[in-house]
Amino acid sequence: MSMARTDGPVGAQEWVPPRAASIDELKSAAADCKGCELYANATQTVFGRGAPHAKIVFVGEQPGDVEDQKGLPFVGPAGRLLREAVDDAGIDPADVYITNAVKHFRFELRGKRRIHQNPGPAHIAACRPWLVAEFALLQPELVVILGATAGRALLGPSFRVTQQRGRLMPWPASAQHPEDFPVAQIQALATIHPSAVLRADNRDIAYTGLVDDLKVAASALG
Ligand code: SF4
Repeated sequence: MSMARTDGPVGAQEWVPPRAASIDELKSAAADCKGCELYANATQTVFGRGAPHAKIVFVGEQPGDVEDQKGLPFVGPAGRLLREAVDDAGIDPADVYITNAVKHFRFELRGKRRIHQNPGPAHIAACRPWLVAEFALLQPELVVILGATAGRALLGPSFRVTQQRGRLMPWPASAQHPEDFPVAQIQALATIHPSAVLRADNRDIAYTGLVDDLKVAASALG
């Protein structure tokens, strides 16, 4: 059983239906989650979405401002870029499910602006039971980890996206807590978060790097 490993938030486990039959069932249960304090200021839970029998699960960090308002993951500028990159890498969008390590938007108010804040280790640990439940239902062939926060959430604190990106790794053997992810032996691959492409000095180079990594991911699919 997955548990929050830090003092602080109680964790999502008590909100996760033990025998969920579908992602929709998980999604509606997650709407009431109070496993950490992030639910209090965010608009709503932003659960994963995509193909119910997806071969690839993409895991990002947390929803952004647009996603928080719409209640859907990766619908802002980074999401559009990711969909384009998936297409350019030759991955069928019908094989894809997209989610985040943390399901509520963490931000700081500056005037009326909501400024993105990275989720902390306690939020990531608290929210992990949702990710575990998504993996258990989807049983994907490949996990694609987007960016440093998701990488540290899944692979541990020593993860460095610049050093570990673009390489296929055994999953869940590479996970920080493999026992949390009771899925068959599959593969994982880390790459940059699409928002890093949007922030890059040279977007073309950054985008090409993302697509190249996703081509490696595509090559791993059966
Ligand atoms: S971030 Fe995750 S654990 Fe925290 S309240 Fe939201 S869904 Fe629950």
